[in-house]
Amino acid sequence: MSQKPKVATTSMCGCFGCHMSLLDIDERILKLVELVEFDKSPINDIKRFTGRCAVGLIEGGCCNDENVHVLQDFREHCDVLVTVGECARTGGVPVLRNLVPLAECLEEAYLRGPTVHNPGQVIPNDPDIPLLLDRVYPCHEVVKIDYFLPGCPPSADTLWAALLALLGNRPLELPYGLVKYD
Ligand code: SF4
Repeated sequence: MSQKPKVATTSMCGCFGCHMSLLDIDERILKLVELVEFDKSPINDIKRFTGRCAVGLIEGGCCNDENVHVLQDFREHCDVLVTVGECARTGGVPVLRNLVPLAECLEEAYLRGPTVHNPGQVIPNDPDIPLLLDRVYPCHEVVKIDYFLPGCPPSADTLWAALLALLGNRPLELPYGLVKYD
């Protein structure tokens, strides 16, 4: 059985750009595979946690009830929980919908929008579809977050430095050059 620490990742209300940035570590990904075992993650398509994880990386904020469930699941299974990127830290671009009541958002998307063709005038409400929350929430408003990596997305170097520090049980103190908010 592997003794390597486990890392889990997820993408919630985001664009997968933060996961792309993780893959941008290029050849260091071979080193990463030596250092860790990936648990639940879209990188390996493992859907459920298989055990305790040292680090959980969260991309995206919470826009629906499934996101809340996933985030709570990560908090329960991960020793250290890290938000990756602005969507997870602040809600990001999706938070713009918070300016408009949810009912109006749905009506614009499914009933009144200029490109909408919806003869039945039905707003999708199948129970299998995750229920939209009243607004988009940053992750720390739903569960305790241990560290925040800002940026849209954080650079590959930032993610690499953060992972090495956390896996080495060191405090996450990144040099100024690796902390960007754009
Ligand atoms: S922070 Fe930027 S790159 Fe990351 S999920 Fe949000 S929009 Fe995409």
